[in-house]
Amino acid sequence: MVWRRLLGKEPKSRPARDEVTVADGARTATHGGPQPRPAATRPSGPPDKAARERRRRELLRRRDAILFDIEQGELALRPENPWQERIDLLGDALGTIDADREALARRRPEPTFPLPPIPITDIATTSGDEATVRFAIGGEPFAFAEEVDWDERGGAVVRGDLRHQVGDTARLVPDETPCDLRKALAHHLAGSVTVFATDLRDRAIAGEPLPAAPTLADLARPCPKCGGWSDWHGRCPACTRRDLERQALNAEAARLEAERSREAEERHRWAERLPIAHRRLADIEADLAALGE
Ligand SMILES: [Zn+2]
Repeated sequence: MVWRRLLGKEPKSRPARDEVTVADGARTATHGGPQPRPAATRPSGPPDKAARERRRRELLRRRDAILFDIEQGELALRPENPWQERIDLLGDALGTIDADREALARRRPEPTFPLPPIPITDIATTSGDEATVRFAIGGEPFAFAEEVDWDERGGAVVRGDLRHQVGDTARLVPDETPCDLRKALAHHLAGSVTVFATDLRDRAIAGEPLPAAPTLADLARPCPKCGGWSDWHGRCPACTRRDLERQALNAEAARLEAERSREAEERHRWAERLPIAHRRLADIEADLAALGE
């Protein structure tokens, strides 16, 4: 019964070979290509009726498969065809992505406002199991403490994040800051003071000296790329967001281009197979005729 299972798995477009046993003389070419069939049309004796019927059904099944191949091949040769339609749609989608990428490149600089160089003072750190960091900016005290949940990954100890306990960055926003930027600046400073505190903690643990004469301005220097505020380490959250957007657009464009190539290849493959499909159909028709169909 093995051949039945194999037959069931045979791809529709590829004819099965030699899986049907019929009387010797009725056995025909296998359609693996344009093979001669000298004995096929001249059976030496009348084959068993049931075997002939099985053979006939098998040939009809193959003919259906080949007719499907021919239909697809002829469709692929037409100027308008399903593959070209999908290629056109994918081209439209790629055009939209290109427009998005251009809009991203032309996006306006981020809003910004310079901060005064108010000294960051009263820096104090502890580096025990639960490190703490304290400092003050223009009279506003800040305090951070390490989360207790340490993690060990592959032997390396990863310390917990610092928790912001005391200090309000909204009070660091200069009075003359335009109203529409106050909230965004306070938000940026909240991130930047945490980055600053984490740097102080890491220096304390490593036994490195504290930064020399840090100021409020160091927490929000203008980003050279987008003009927005960068953090204590000079990293710009707005640029990070823009980079992620750009990467997402590039990844989507690559996916669509790959899909477009696949569609073009599939169309080409169907068209290329057409002459072979015609030859196979002629072979099957001849075999059917030999069976008396
Ligand atoms: Zn930036």
